[in-house]
Amino acid sequence: MKYCPKCNETYRDENLNFCLNDGELLNEMDSTDAPPTVMLDSSRVTSENQWSDQNTNFSDFNPQNQQIYQQPFSSPSPVASTEQDKTLPTIALILGITSLVFSCCYLGVITGPIALVIGFLGMNNAKNDPETYGGKEMAIIGMVLGGISFALAFVFLFLGFLGSIIG
Ligand SMILES: [Zn+2]
Repeated sequence: MKYCPKCNETYRDENLNFCLNDGELLNEMDSTDAPPTVMLDSSRVTSENQWSDQNTNFSDFNPQNQQIYQQPFSSPSPVASTEQDKTLPTIALILGITSLVFSCCYLGVITGPIALVIGFLGMNNAKNDPETYGGKEMAIIGMVLGGISFALAFVFLFLGFLGSIIG
């Protein structure tokens, strides 16, 4: 759409450059004047809506209204908890691996049960609050490794004890 700034005649023909009435250079309708008026209208509507919302909020203290207003604030919490806490399962896994490696040196007797307990706590956290805590598999692996290394260390300890008696 084009329009004449002199006589305000509008022309649908995009190829037309000059007004047929007075020969004035035609202006593009969409790019110049149309968008600002639309922007003004929309902002006016939203401001009226906000004002009327505030008005209803002040006039009647409805707890249901407040709940509606609180909903946008409570929604970000599940989004933020997408990063799960895997601290305990990680510690359990590391302790489980190290205790298995050092089980021959009787260290597994100490680190094995620790890995078992921390792994159990991590697994419980992941079970009770799966949105906040993750790494359940890691915690279980840590528990199993800790248990195995504890048993292995116990066997080594027992064998050493036996050896000392016999020898
Ligand atoms: Zn004209």
